Amino acid sequence: MKLLVTGGAGFIGSEFVRQAVEKSLETVVVDKLTYAGDLERLSDIEDQIKFYKADITNREFIEHIFKTEKPDIVVHWAAESHVDRSILDASPFIDANVRGTQVLLDVSKENDINLFINIATDEVYGELGEDGQFYEDTPLIPNSPYSASKAAADMLGRAYHRTYGLPLITVRPSNNYGWWQYPEKLIPVVILKALNNEPIPVYGTGENIREWLFVSDCAEAVFKIIEKGKTGEIYNVGSGEERRNIDVVKSILNILGKPEDLITFVKDRLGHDFRYSLNTDKIEKEIGWKAKVRFEEGVEMTVKWYLDNMQWVDKKLKYLKNYWEKVYG
Ligand code: NAD
Repeated sequence: MKLLVTGGAGFIGSEFVRQAVEKSLETVVVDKLTYAGDLERLSDIEDQIKFYKADITNREFIEHIFKTEKPDIVVHWAAESHVDRSILDASPFIDANVRGTQVLLDVSKENDINLFINIATDEVYGELGEDGQFYEDTPLIPNSPYSASKAAADMLGRAYHRTYGLPLITVRPSNNYGWWQYPEKLIPVVILKALNNEPIPVYGTGENIREWLFVSDCAEAVFKIIEKGKTGEIYNVGSGEERRNIDVVKSILNILGKPEDLITFVKDRLGHDFRYSLNTDKIEKEIGWKAKVRFEEGVEMTVKWYLDNMQWVDKKLKYLKNYWEKVYG
């Protein structure tokens, strides 16, 4: 079984590639290496994979890769992935997430692959209030340019299955965290700001709730879905570990022994979704998968990883200072 993994130099994609190598699966990684992609994430396994630096919107090159590699399974993680950046400029999100997905679907259809795993997100469902959950058949009502572009990609996948019979499964994971996450997302931002005793920006009043899924759990779920999932189906991948942003920040400060007065509330994100929560009965019953890592354990492992890998983070920080200024003011 040969895997073609898009976005394999990204945060979750690289964890998936590492697990594929551990399972001795032949793995081809296709990644454009945007600001968020980094081959350093794969440096310990670089001689065990094949890598193409390629933009998934480049049909000619993608066709060439498929003809050369003849993959059996495509696992499509590549995307512009950060909501705040999509609010600053939606264009790269339409290019990569919508057009890029369409190219991959077309080329997969023409090359008779056995399975296409289309990675979506819980954000396609829109937002919840204090109560309720998203089920796989909940209508999609995305609220940010990012989630709208992911919903378009999600629906394109569905359409290619229905129209052309492309063997495709849609996966909708909740908020991931863990090692190697680019320090623009909440948890690494808090760790790095706290370590430098800098004000920690928290949107609004910090009441927004996310469901935190440890990155290794997310990758494991996708392998289980490859093994046991049914084509044409959608699977939510959540952890049940819902936390308010403010409580996430306080947990990290507590682990680092830093004072809570570093917390600084900043102007809320435009269109900020209040809460996401996935119902995971389907994946538990049909696939036999359940998240293993509890939030308190995962956040400890994450903090430790950043402390041990500050040389990687330092390389990102120079560029990020300008970005943080733009987003948090
Ligand atoms: P990431 O931003 O860390 O990685 C994305 C990768 O895709 C990078 O390596 C980047 O170089 C690559 N890429 C971007 N545009 C490309 C293009 N045009 N051609 C080829 N490669 C390109 O993202 P992530 O957090 O690892 O997320 C991976 C996937 O999982 C995305 O599809 C995202 O929408 C989805 N997802 C993420 C989360 C989360 O919490 N991080 C939750 C649910 C779903």
